[in-house]
Amino acid sequence: MAGITMVTWLGESRFQSLDEPISRVRNLAIIHTLAYFLFLLFFSYLVHLHPYVKLGPLPEHAGDVVNSSRNDPILIYHSSHTSRNKMKALLTGISGQDGYFLSRFLTEKGYEIHGVIRRNSSMSQGTVSLHTKDVRDNITIHYGDLTDANFFSKLLSEEKPDEMYHLAAQSFVGYSFQNPSSTYDVNISGTLNIANAVKDYSPGTKLYFAATSEMFGQPETTPQNEETAFKPRSPYAVSKLAGFWTMKTYREAYDLFICNGILFNHESEVRGPEFVTRKISLGVARIANGSSDPIELGNLDARKDWGYAGDYVEGMWKMLNHETPDDFVLGTGELHTVREFAQFAFERAGFRITWKGSGVDEVGISEDGRVLVKVNKAFFRPLESDNYLADYGKAERELGWKPRTKFGELVKIMVDSDLKESSHSRE
Ligand code: NDP
Ligand code: GDP
Repeated sequence: MAGITMVTWLGESRFQSLDEPISRVRNLAIIHTLAYFLFLLFFSYLVHLHPYVKLGPLPEHAGDVVNSSRNDPILIYHSSHTSRNKMKALLTGISGQDGYFLSRFLTEKGYEIHGVIRRNSSMSQGTVSLHTKDVRDNITIHYGDLTDANFFSKLLSEEKPDEMYHLAAQSFVGYSFQNPSSTYDVNISGTLNIANAVKDYSPGTKLYFAATSEMFGQPETTPQNEETAFKPRSPYAVSKLAGFWTMKTYREAYDLFICNGILFNHESEVRGPEFVTRKISLGVARIANGSSDPIELGNLDARKDWGYAGDYVEGMWKMLNHETPDDFVLGTGELHTVREFAQFAFERAGFRITWKGSGVDEVGISEDGRVLVKVNKAFFRPLESDNYLADYGKAERELGWKPRTKFGELVKIMVDSDLKESSHSRE
């Protein structure tokens, strides 16, 4: 009588006659094992790799989830916000100038974008509302404040982005002299919240921190690069330097991929209206449209290394896509005064301006004798940082980055945009 035995192999049970040759039993077991692993492999592909498949609860907008097009072969649900083949970027400060250009740039690169906005009573979304529909539709907004550590812990643990760009800040130097305390809260504690959330909840996220040339303060050497000593000269610069060192420390202590971008001034048609370049381009457009009020400015001799924000966001992305995390200076290597900016801007709008007087009595006058620019002491800073000039050689060598937009082109972009906008609003 043939005896019966049980062959068990990875949970598979099978009754075999003892008369069967042992090798046949072994072959069967091998075939079953292979089949089991193949199944495991296929299942893990479905869950982790396939772009259109995700297991779990249905997303909020259940209306757009069920999609059985030929492109979605095996579908549990599909939402444009959850496709797994896209890189995911999280931006703080998405409603500001750099957030605008970076969202556009990353959308073109095929990223899925998440952005943090602080709630306000009018629910306005800053520069996010200026985007074309394709960019806006690609952005998922999360409402939260930099000073809320819990918010960022939860966000990072849920979203686990591939890249995070920490752009949000109290970014206006002038205001930081009036309100140093809130500047420190947002720029120092807020930045620490981001660093902790990445370390504790998403250490695989590559993090970019928006540091600044203001950290050089009154530099002893010109031009400045990554080796130049920092001597901050405003509460804003002090707060950014604290953020810079926090990031550097976390990078080394916890082996995180963090880059500090030491960026010189960069401007654009969506620059905040209190910054001097935009104040001038808006003022020129106002005067070109018939206003007789001159533009009131502070220190006309102040000199800056001004570039175009659209060029700089590419540098941010290149930093996070470099092999190793590091710090980089981005700038143009050209200096221009506030006076020159005003002169170029008026010329672009068809006004020839001549300068008369000096110090607080200096004025810019049109050919027909109208005062177009005057100096107002209220716009002087208690301390001026000067002599900034970027040496962006390291970024050029290691990232292949360099600025594309020259000073004259930058002024033209800004003035043309504000002239166009103001002529529309008159219609
Ligand atoms: P903006 O001032 O245009 O944008 C700042 C952003 O930070 C806004 O989206 C703002 O939101 C957000 N923000 C401010 N406070 C908070 C808060 N408490 N919680 C959440 N969000 C907050 O700056 P830029 O885009 O020009 O600059 C981006 C970053 O780069 C800044 O950190 C800036 O300091 C730094 N930098 C900029 C340079 C430049 O020349 N532009 C040069 C060097 C560094 P809201 O819209 O609600 O105000
Ligand atoms: P910042 O470099 O980040 O402080 O950018 P700003 O655009 O605010 O200032 C650039 C330079 O312009 C500084 O050196 C200011 O002192 C100088 N400046 C001169 N007049 C004005 C003015 O009316 N407003 C501002 N914001 N800056 C002015």
